[in-house]
Amino acid sequence: MADTKNTDLNPRTKGYEFLGPPGTLFITLSVPATIYALYFGCSEHSGGCPPQLATIWPSTKISLQNPEFWKSLWDKDAAVMYLIWYIYCVVCWFVLPGDWIEGTTMRDGRRKKYKINAFTTLLLTMGITIGWIMRFGPQSFTFIYEHWVGLVTASVSMSIFQGLYCYISSFFGDKLLALGGNTGNPIYDFFIGRVLNPSIGSFDIKSFNELRPGLILWVLIDISMACEQAVRRGGKVTDSLWLVLFFQALYVADGLYNEPAIFTTMDITTDGFGFMLSVGDLAWVPFVYSLQARYLVYKQIELGPVHTALILLVNLTGYWIFRGANGEKNDFRNGKNPRNLKTMDTKRGTKLLISGWWGMCRHPNYFGDLLMALAWSLPTGFETPVTYFYVSYFLVLLMHRQYRDDENCEKKYGEDWHKYKQLVSYRIVPYIY
Ligand code: NDP
Repeated sequence: MADTKNTDLNPRTKGYEFLGPPGTLFITLSVPATIYALYFGCSEHSGGCPPQLATIWPSTKISLQNPEFWKSLWDKDAAVMYLIWYIYCVVCWFVLPGDWIEGTTMRDGRRKKYKINAFTTLLLTMGITIGWIMRFGPQSFTFIYEHWVGLVTASVSMSIFQGLYCYISSFFGDKLLALGGNTGNPIYDFFIGRVLNPSIGSFDIKSFNELRPGLILWVLIDISMACEQAVRRGGKVTDSLWLVLFFQALYVADGLYNEPAIFTTMDITTDGFGFMLSVGDLAWVPFVYSLQARYLVYKQIELGPVHTALILLVNLTGYWIFRGANGEKNDFRNGKNPRNLKTMDTKRGTKLLISGWWGMCRHPNYFGDLLMALAWSLPTGFETPVTYFYVSYFLVLLMHRQYRDDENCEKKYGEDWHKYKQLVSYRIVPYIY
């Protein structure tokens, strides 16, 4: 371990992203508001999903005028259930076996160790859930559908608590801070995340939240939606809902199975753990990404074999690109290059891949992810654009993320990054963008 004091390694952040404090304040408030709006403006209680995005606001407004709306925000049963869920995930982290592996080298020369048992947690949870449903029937697993709003409130509260905890505790001790989250402006730093890898003992708060309570909850939400539909349809679930459930469960299982791949991502190597990640991981991902499944509970679409096959093809193509690209980079960053891909030396010391997936564009993994996002919305048909919210937002997010990563890489690699950009000129989609 290097003895350098972290104070020398934590320069003040100069310059803002996301339009600075006003922009981050706006996102801090609008993320929870959007999660609620997507429910109140697009659910069977509000008369279904509106045919135009602009009309989601009038539908939400009707809900706002109803006194029941305000009461529904706080739901004691949902809060207790959410807390039990979160504690269960922590207990699984502690008790389930798992290898300890090292992440990438941080700028203080240390390599943090992480316990790898996210996939085991998923398997255990799925075992319990499926066993429960088989024993007690689908009607016993509709709690999430019935307590949606209360669960949103509970997860947002948990995100605020964790964001505040990490922000306040970052001022105590000699912690390594995120280079982008140390401006001295509390609104901005709370959002971006001041401390890079907050932990309690060997328990790493950021990677835990990235992979477990939110992602596994997302699958549970989808299962609960399928159970609600099964109850309404005498035990049968439509092919469209099966597709969404299968695609999203595959995505989560893949992420958790490849848990070590997360250690080379921007979230872990660069961003601090602030409200941006806590609300994203704990509330936004499970409750926004499952919108299609919630919609299909009451919009019961049967796709038939042809449409099912076509949508499957889009998803599997996306998955192939996503997995291939992320696997290539992760292998490479862990010292392996099984396909003997061409590389480029840099003055920074780390090489860059310039053939294979990473020779086609600078973010092939984003392209695969986007194709999958599209496939998750297609089963909902074309009656409303709201169920395409995820893929539209994701497109904006990944384009912005690409810019952020480009800037970070320019700082990391300097001139070499310019050379690399000349060799690999497309950003996300080869020959198009
Ligand atoms: P990347 O996995 O693309 O990682 C970017 C880093 O990879 C760069 O900073 C650089 O770091 C390294 N790198 C870049 N080019 C090369 C190259 N040619 N050869 C070797 N290394 C290279 O980005 P993200 O962390 O943004 O995304 C990870 C995954 O997570 C993606 O698949 C993305 O789609 C997904 N994602 C999903 C989200 C969701 O909500 N579903 C949200 C955000 C991301 P260095 O050189 O320092 O190693």
